[in-house]
Amino acid sequence: MNIKNDSVVTIAYTLKDDSGTVLDTSKDHGDLAYLHGHENIVPGLEDALLGKVAGDEITASIEPEKGYGTRQEELVFEVPRSNLPEDEELNLGMQFRAQAQDEQQMIVTVVKIADDTVTLDANHPLAGQTLNFEVEVKNVRDATPEELDHGHVHGPEGHHHE
Ligand code: ZN
Repeated sequence: MNIKNDSVVTIAYTLKDDSGTVLDTSKDHGDLAYLHGHENIVPGLEDALLGKVAGDEITASIEPEKGYGTRQEELVFEVPRSNLPEDEELNLGMQFRAQAQDEQQMIVTVVKIADDTVTLDANHPLAGQTLNFEVEVKNVRDATPEELDHGHVHGPEGHHHE
């Protein structure tokens, strides 16, 4: 069965940056099952996997535009220290969830700490990076109607509802 939109695809993968450093690997947390064509994974990796079958192994080098996007400097901003919880110790590089004005959840990274201000970066941590994937396709099946309705995979490797 070839990978197409609405396929449930199980992959083993390793992601490296341009210097060969491993950023993420399924060896650490198990294979990934995703729903193809539903923005579960970055567009460049979907493009590379389209039409593949179980057993195929691919490598893909994905530009930021087809990965986590380019860095946007306007997403780096300063906030008064008093806007952040007093009881929380701040460290460079720490990440937390914040709510944007449009109610969207975003992950921000602390990039600078001054006496009265903190500089936050709301770019995705992998924005601006070329993503070098090594992927093995483990399984391909059709999605169930419920999975298509939810837009994600159910079952052992997928999403679990409470
Ligand atoms: Zn669901």
